[in-house]
Amino acid sequence: MHNQRKPTPARLLGALRQHFPRTHALAAGAASFALALTMFVSTPEVEARKHSLPVKLTAIAAGEAPATAAEAPAAEPTAIEPSLSERTLEVGNGDTLSDLFQRAGISAAEMYELLSSSEEAQQLAKLNPGEELTFHIDNDGALQSLEVHRDRLNLVEFSRGNSGVYQHILHQRQPDSYTAFRQGEINSSLFVAGNEAGLSNNLIMEMAQVFSSDIDFALDIRKGDSFNVMFEEEFLDGEKIGNGAIQAASFTNQGKTFSAVRYIDRNGDASYYTPDGKSMRKAFIRTPVDFTRISSHFNPRRLHPVFKTRRPHNGTDYAAPTGTPVYAAGDGRVVKAGYSKPNGNYIFIQHGQRYMTRYLHLSKRRVKTGDRVKQRQLIGNVGSTGYATGPHLHYEFLVNGHHRNPATIVRKLPKAKSIPDSEMARFRAQTQPLLAQLQSYEQPALAQRSEDNENNNVN
Ligand SMILES: [Zn+2]
Repeated sequence: MHNQRKPTPARLLGALRQHFPRTHALAAGAASFALALTMFVSTPEVEARKHSLPVKLTAIAAGEAPATAAEAPAAEPTAIEPSLSERTLEVGNGDTLSDLFQRAGISAAEMYELLSSSEEAQQLAKLNPGEELTFHIDNDGALQSLEVHRDRLNLVEFSRGNSGVYQHILHQRQPDSYTAFRQGEINSSLFVAGNEAGLSNNLIMEMAQVFSSDIDFALDIRKGDSFNVMFEEEFLDGEKIGNGAIQAASFTNQGKTFSAVRYIDRNGDASYYTPDGKSMRKAFIRTPVDFTRISSHFNPRRLHPVFKTRRPHNGTDYAAPTGTPVYAAGDGRVVKAGYSKPNGNYIFIQHGQRYMTRYLHLSKRRVKTGDRVKQRQLIGNVGSTGYATGPHLHYEFLVNGHHRNPATIVRKLPKAKSIPDSEMARFRAQTQPLLAQLQSYEQPALAQRSEDNENNNVN
């Protein structure tokens, strides 16, 4: 009942009688108790226990609402502040700091005084459109403080202390984070399915990146593939301001499910791992070209394997517009970068002793023979130089000098790094709750899917 929850004076008094020895409570009247306790309240040690019952009794005696009276602090004299006028200006395209100071009616001399007050103040010279400056100006027209709103989370405040010298304070706000979950099934393309599920293009790209060593997002995606993603959504004052990192995800490609979870290791480095602690980042990425620009990506015909369409053909062809970025599939050294009649512009990269990747028909080479390259580094652009009927990347993967299909070579590739045994307990403690959470979200979808399968079997 609503009434019973309220701390009515009668209830409080009852509670008090239970709390104190009965004889004591009966011997002293409520009013004299109140008097004694009022004296206590003014001493510092009781001040810290504002919400304790005796203080409430004081309120009862005074005939006021208990909560209000108990929380009312002693009135403090308000500091007398000089009256300041405030002016906020937004940085427009091409605006300089001088422009803004001029608009605020502050002299150039004052601007230079502020600029030279600290290294942080010197950063004021670098303003970006959209940032806001709030000037606090006193009655004499002098600048007292300046707030620089770099974005909604970061504010630097420069103000004259009593000494008259500018000091700065950085105010940082923390957004509220909530866990979000999205899932989808691919009908025509990853991006269509991702957008339908409510994922931003950035999150779709991040998800593809997480699984980029296991799945060739240009050639392997099939109708019926599905994904589950758990990530952080960030809010400020109730308004969504962005997405945080993917926390955990799973991707089912051609019936095989890959799972990944984010882990921040002892050194503070965040990376994705399989649930049993193997790094998702392997020696090679599966798609050495910007897969979002693969021209046949949205084509239903892509739902059939396209390897080895011409024979003899020792590689994989990725049809993409001229200029599409081509990436090094793994860390290595460029052993040849040049031009020949059949290959056009080509790049060969050696990865350790056993592995070599080759990239042909490029419109542009961006590395030279002898260069060291990192995985995912831009090495060139798709073209149609050499014997090529149209713009495409011809990609070869060699093991000990023999051509291999990168799609089927996975088992022979170097093993991915794992979490060391000594860190496994830490890894589990951090990642198991995330994986359990992902799984709990996934449940209804799985149940639905197996129901669908049963129906299909009946038919
Ligand atoms: Zn080819």
